[in-house]
Amino acid sequence: MRCSLKELAIGVGLALVVFLAWLGIEITPVILIGGLVLLFKFTMDNRTNSRFTLVEQKRAGAGVIPDVDFSDIGGQEVAKREFKEALDFIRLDQDVRRLGIRPLKGILLVGPPGTGKTLMAKAAAGYTNSVFIAAAGSQFVEMYAGVGAQRVRRLFSQAYAEAEKANKQTAIVFIDEIDVLGAKRGKNSGHMEYDQTLNELLTQIDGITVNQQVRLLVVGATNRVDLLDPALLRPGRFDRIVRVDLPDKQGRLQILKIHAKDKPLAADVDLDKIAQATFGFSGAHLESVMNEAAIYALRHKRHEITNQDLKEALEKVMLGEKLNRSPSDEERLRVAYHETGHALISEKVCAGSVASVSIISRGGALGYMRQHGRDDQYLYTKAELLDRIQLCMAGAVAEELAFGERSTGAAGDVEQAAKIAKQIVFAGLSDLGVVTQDLPGGILARTIAQIIKEQERQVYDYLAKNKSRMDLAARKLLEEETLSGDQFRRIMAQCA
Ligand code: ATP
Repeated sequence: MRCSLKELAIGVGLALVVFLAWLGIEITPVILIGGLVLLFKFTMDNRTNSRFTLVEQKRAGAGVIPDVDFSDIGGQEVAKREFKEALDFIRLDQDVRRLGIRPLKGILLVGPPGTGKTLMAKAAAGYTNSVFIAAAGSQFVEMYAGVGAQRVRRLFSQAYAEAEKANKQTAIVFIDEIDVLGAKRGKNSGHMEYDQTLNELLTQIDGITVNQQVRLLVVGATNRVDLLDPALLRPGRFDRIVRVDLPDKQGRLQILKIHAKDKPLAADVDLDKIAQATFGFSGAHLESVMNEAAIYALRHKRHEITNQDLKEALEKVMLGEKLNRSPSDEERLRVAYHETGHALISEKVCAGSVASVSIISRGGALGYMRQHGRDDQYLYTKAELLDRIQLCMAGAVAEELAFGERSTGAAGDVEQAAKIAKQIVFAGLSDLGVVTQDLPGGILARTIAQIIKEQERQVYDYLAKNKSRMDLAARKLLEEETLSGDQFRRIMAQCA
C-alpha cells in the first residue's frame, strides 16, 4: 500500500511538471525544490538504515544463543539467584499460564560498570533457550523526529522474526545503557524525539502478551536507575530489578579463577592474596589484571604467569601504565621524599601495611605508595578516617620538612583529604555534631580546614621526629627507584 502511494505521488509529480512545461511556465524552481526534497528523504532513509545495520551487526549471531553460562560469571550469587528466579517465569510457561500469572516482560540489571550485567543477559538466553538480540540505548538517540521510535519498532519486530526463523518460543531483547533511551520524559533538550522513542519502547513492552507465539523478554542494564522514567519501572513493565554490585572478596577470587582457567600459573601465585588486594575492583578490572599479567609474562618470555607478573599487572590496572617521563634530579628527590612520607605514615597507622613504594611515573603520578589489601571494609570509624587524612597529607608534609615548601604534586592528596573530612562532617562525626546537607558553605569549609590542619600537625611532629629515617629511606628510594614493603621496613629497622 505504502509503495503504491509512493509510486502514485511520483507519477502525479512528473505529470504536473510536464503539464506546467506544456503551459509554458518556468519549471526550473519546481525541479530544484523537488530535487532538494528527494535528497533530504534519501539522506534520512540512509541514516535510519545505516544506524539500524549497526543494531543488526551488534546482534551478530541473532538466532544463535550466546556461548555464556551462569557458571562463567563469578561472585554475584544473590544477583544470579534473583535473576534465575525471574527467568523461571519464562521457562515454566505452562505453570505460569495455568495459574493466571501475568507475563514477566522486563528485568532491569542495575550496577556499576563492568560488574557482569551483559554477561548475565547473555547467560539468560542460554538458560531460557531464547534468541538473543542486543542493542545499546545510544543507538536509538537521534536528532531527527521519529527515527528513534522507528528503531525501537524494528528491534522488536526483528526479535519476533528471528525467534520464528530459529524456531524458538522465546526471545531476549537486551538494551544496554537503557538510561540513555529511558531517561525521565521532558528532561532532555530536543526532548520531543527522546520522549517519542521512550513512548515507543513503552508501547512495545505493553504489546507483549502471554498468547503470542514468541514470548519476548526485555532485559535492560544501567548504572543510573535514578535517571529512568517512572513509567518504565511501574509493575507490568520492568517488573524485576536485580542489583549487580561490585564483588566481595570471595566473588573476586571466583572471578580471578574464571579468568585464570586458560592461563598457566606458576607455583608462587596465590590468587587469594590478589583477591584480598583488589577491594573495589569490578569483574572487568579483574579480567584486565589476569590479562595484563599474561602480557607481562609474554614480554619476559616466560611460559608461566608468576606472582611478580600479577603484582605488575595489579599496579598497572590500579595506577596506569609506566610512563617514560624523565623528571629532573631535583624533582625525583622531591618525589622520593613525598612517597617516603606516605610510606612512613602508612606504617605508623598500620604496621606492615606498605606493599611497595616507587618513584616510577605511572598514569598521572610521578610516584606512588601502594598498601597491602586489607579485608573488605564498608564502614569507617572517625579514628580510621583521621588516619586516612594523615596518610593523604604525609607526602606534602614530608616535602615541607625536606625542602622548606610544598609543591603542586600534593594537589590530588589534598583533594582526597578534603573529601574524607567532608565525610566526617556529614556523618555527624565532627565537633559540629549532626548537621544537614544545607550547612552554610563557610562553616563547612572552616571545619574541613580545621580537621585537616590538626592531622597535618600530628604528621609533621611524627615525621620531624623520624627525620633521619625519612632521609635514609628517601635516598635509598632514589637509588633503587622501587622498594618492596619488606625492603622499606628493613631500612626503617636499621635506623631504629
Ligand atoms: P557496563 O555497565 O560497562 O556495560 P557490564 O556490567 O555489562 O558493564 P560486562 O560487559 O558484563 O559488564 O563485563 C565486562 C567484562 O568483564 C566481561 O566480558 C568479563 O570478562 C568481565 N567480567 C565482569 N564481571 C564478571 C563476573 N562477575 N565474572 C566473570 N567475568 C566478569
